[in-house]
Amino acid sequence: MSEALLRVEGLSVAFRGGAIQAVDGVDLALHAGETLAVVGESGSGKSVTALATLRLFAREDDVRTAGRILFQGEDLLGLPEAELRKRRGRDIGIIFQDPGASLNPVFNIGRQITEVLRRHKHLPRAEAEAEALRLLREVGISDPEGRLRSYPHQLSGGMRQRVMIAIALACGPRVLIADEPTTALDVTIQAQILGLLKALQAAHGMALLFITHDLELVGDIADRIAVMYAGQVVESGPAAEVLADPRHPYTRALLDCRPHRGADGEVHFAAIPGTPPRGVFPGGCRFAARCARRAAGCEQPQPLLTEGARAVRCCRA
Ligand code: ADP
Ligand code: MG
Repeated sequence: MSEALLRVEGLSVAFRGGAIQAVDGVDLALHAGETLAVVGESGSGKSVTALATLRLFAREDDVRTAGRILFQGEDLLGLPEAELRKRRGRDIGIIFQDPGASLNPVFNIGRQITEVLRRHKHLPRAEAEAEALRLLREVGISDPEGRLRSYPHQLSGGMRQRVMIAIALACGPRVLIADEPTTALDVTIQAQILGLLKALQAAHGMALLFITHDLELVGDIADRIAVMYAGQVVESGPAAEVLADPRHPYTRALLDCRPHRGADGEVHFAAIPGTPPRGVFPGGCRFAARCARRAAGCEQPQPLLTEGARAVRCCRA
């Protein structure tokens, strides 16, 4: 396979001087133009993996990282802050679950888009404004002239996410990281934003790292899937194969949790019993305590992730 555009190698991230282990030896490969979905319950380390890519941590997080994050062969984790700042938004765009929190409430939309264009592309004001209009049109915002002068609170959640996507696209990144981009939106809007991301990806040939806790969304958008549990990848492979034939009991359990209509005609929601370990992990298989297929010998030693296109971390797979 061709060299990955973005390759995460043995990434580990700990907070509070090592007291909280969030990500533990994660490998991911994102190839040009493809969509990789990273899936897992809340707390599995998906967002921390995304944040590590652009080192978007706060000073007080007291973060320690190990491993490499290679973008076009260059290790982003090793770059000085000033150098990384240039890459953020230019090479790799990122959008988050809560588009309100990422927008500045005191500046209008036009100012927030043109600022990015002026900073990274050094466009003069008039050109930046014309480009901002074009971007708003591209992300499907009606009355873009009027919207340039709107403030974030005047827009709906779906509109705000479209604006965030416009900002993320402004510099033509090769990679877009979308961390639960539709989780805060209602179902109809969710589908629209997902459709927009797919269309933009095709139009721009971007690679998309799509993060979600919702396996339901993945079949529509992903080429490949990496399932995360307790800071590790536990299964990965082509999306259609993983969804049709999940090999890790955790992936199976996630699939079984999707809402389904029972024989009685009612919609049922299942849940995986128990909660995932967070921050401090047991030795051996981290899923064993919740696993429906657990057997003698499952606890020790920790199963390794197998090699190859379909990788599984389970001693019984
Ligand atoms: P996900 O996105 O999969 O829901 P996260 O990546 O946000 O999960 O979190 C992984 C783990 O790291 C969780 O246990 C979370 O509580 C912890 N964590 C995340 N950010 C911080 C932080 N800034 N300081 C301390 N712990 C954190
Ligand atoms: Mg998250």
